[in-house]
Amino acid sequence: MTAKRLDGKAVAADMRREIKEETERLVAAGVRPGLGVVLVGDDPASRSYVTAKEKACEQAGILSRELTLPADASKQEILAKVRELNEAEDIHGILVQLPLPDASIEEEVLNTVVPEKDVDGFHPVNVGRMMLGLPTFLSCTPHGILHLLKRSGYEVSGRHVVVVGRSNIVGRPLANLLSQKSDLGNATVTLCHSRTPDIGRFTREADIVVSAVGSPNMITADMVKEGAVIVDVGVNRVEDDSRPRGYRLVGDCDYEAMSSKVEAITPVPGGVGPMTITMLLYNTLESARRALAASNT
Ligand code: NDP
Repeated sequence: MTAKRLDGKAVAADMRREIKEETERLVAAGVRPGLGVVLVGDDPASRSYVTAKEKACEQAGILSRELTLPADASKQEILAKVRELNEAEDIHGILVQLPLPDASIEEEVLNTVVPEKDVDGFHPVNVGRMMLGLPTFLSCTPHGILHLLKRSGYEVSGRHVVVVGRSNIVGRPLANLLSQKSDLGNATVTLCHSRTPDIGRFTREADIVVSAVGSPNMITADMVKEGAVIVDVGVNRVEDDSRPRGYRLVGDCDYEAMSSKVEAITPVPGGVGPMTITMLLYNTLESARRALAASNT
């Protein structure tokens, strides 16, 4: 068996076309969706993520506005930028690029974004609404994974999904969404983490394995069953002298070895990553739609 490639790039391209069409309809109705980005410092990885997100906005017809601050900006200066975007009428979604140079203020900064513009879905109000299955902005990576599976023809309903990793931005919201009684849910879910002894005992039972750890080759072919579907969220740099940059990106799963055993697997890069950015556009569009509906009532 040669595994099907779960092509996030292709699915993301389809969704971005749909988002662009819907954006054009909103613009015709008088509202251009707008995303505001706060970038603090000059970390090259953060810079390149922000540039990718802005480019994706531009291609979809969504306005993007970047507010930058030096790495030594004070908490008050950062909060002031967030508040400026909270109040900007042409901005419907706000993204604070993480990590901030001072990680200890991240929570306060994220909580200052008004929930109505929290298109990352990180605000406690939106996390709580997600938990309860109420309308909200779903966190982009978990939401993107659910769309990737569905659009690739893999229903999670009734399947056993094992999620490895329990972060607040990937593993836990994903496990929650998968277990909900909803179109994208109805799975039976097991959540593993660093304190789980013998993770293979669980992953070998899984119809679908999602790994969100950040450790290259931690999920090996002997840890998954024949015909399983693998979603690899991990993005890890490994040294590679044959590459101009001196490294290449790999996921958490042993892609080569699994390819002859599993039904389908996401590549890294080109799997989950493009879906994450797409869901940011999706949420920004949804926020603009809500703003338009509110202005018409
Ligand atoms: P975190 O570091 O916040 O969480 C990692 C999780 O993995 C933790 O729950 C941790 O457990 C668990 N873990 C660590 N070591 C092990 C182990 N040996 N066995 C089992 N579980 C372990 O990471 P994120 O969730 O933010 O990101 C995970 C990966 O996904 C990273 O590589 C990141 O770059 C990538 N990522 C990719 C995205 C994309 O769009 N493609 C988006 C977001 C992340 P514990 O809680 O017990 O410490």
